[in-house]
Amino acid sequence: MEKTELAGMTQEEITGWVREQGFPAFRGKQIFEWIHRGADFDGMTNLSLEMREKLKSCAVAQSVSIRLHRKSELDGTVKFLFELTDGNCVEGVLMRYRYGVSLCISTQVGCRMGCRFCASTLEGRVRDLTAGEMLGEILAANRFLEEEKEKVSHVVLMGSGEPLDNYEQVIRFLKLLREENGIRISLRNVSLSTCGIVPRMYDLAREKLPVTLCVSLHAPNDEIRKKTMPVANTWSIKEILEACRYYIRETGRRVIFEYALVDGLNAGTAEASALAELLRGMQCHVNLIPLNEVKERNLKGVSEDTVRAFMRILEDRRISVTRRREMGDDIEGACGQLRRTVINTQPTA
Ligand code: SAH
Repeated sequence: MEKTELAGMTQEEITGWVREQGFPAFRGKQIFEWIHRGADFDGMTNLSLEMREKLKSCAVAQSVSIRLHRKSELDGTVKFLFELTDGNCVEGVLMRYRYGVSLCISTQVGCRMGCRFCASTLEGRVRDLTAGEMLGEILAANRFLEEEKEKVSHVVLMGSGEPLDNYEQVIRFLKLLREENGIRISLRNVSLSTCGIVPRMYDLAREKLPVTLCVSLHAPNDEIRKKTMPVANTWSIKEILEACRYYIRETGRRVIFEYALVDGLNAGTAEASALAELLRGMQCHVNLIPLNEVKERNLKGVSEDTVRAFMRILEDRRISVTRRREMGDDIEGACGQLRRTVINTQPTA
């Protein structure tokens, strides 16, 4: 019999489940609180030993563990390889900022979007993560941080996977973050990055959750975008920007466009001007990403001068722009790279 995964349930759902197991309803709140504090059944000290054993036999409290981690000597960034109960692994990255601790989590094992620059998609999608596993990535990181008396305060859905290709579980996960008695991470501290699945962007806007929407644009026109992103064959940049304007109207939040500069493809001054023209008048921000060169891909990054020239053009046109800080450069910080170094030793579903 497959064990019940409790981490993906609301307090109300756990309470219902606990009663079905023959225990009093108030145990539901206790178990819910323990799970969100990162405890496994053994640590649930206000439950009887007998009850803990019974629960252990039919349910899972913590469905994510840390298989290995690498800590950057440069900036304290930690790269995790998280292990799921079926043996699959996904990556996460913990970054320390002045405002708090941010964790980048994965939403799928692998990815089926096929972006040419990305290491996560090289083997396609293995399976979706559950809401409980996404929460579990944060709980595992919190256990890791316990010694330092720190906790994850910000979450970005930018690890492996396309969040809007796993829509239902991602929304369930987001709602879990703000449940009473739970982990209590404000959705204002959460960013979700998509390659531009337009219908789901409208759905997300209608949920009216105050998460920051990030869109991987990477090109100022469809012709260039199609060269690296297969999803560009399904939805045009025009459709994506319309969906973004709708998102801004519904949530009152600006949208962030991610743009990785690739030598000879999208990084020239002509592309910078075209991008500025495209985004004119929009409540948005552009995040320039230095390309993390992935050895399986023959794409090259650009020089510092090229980044500066590109930035300058956007700034001159009053487009808010920053370049992403390169963190954890010494620990294979790029999407999917760490997992690939151990992928051959792990089962796939
Ligand atoms: N599927 C989502 C989120 C995962 S990728 C999305 O497409 O947005 C997170 C970000 O990293 C995306 O902007 C993605 O385009 C970018 N990315 C992937 N591989 C990269 C690489 N090798 N160098 C720089 N950015 C990369």
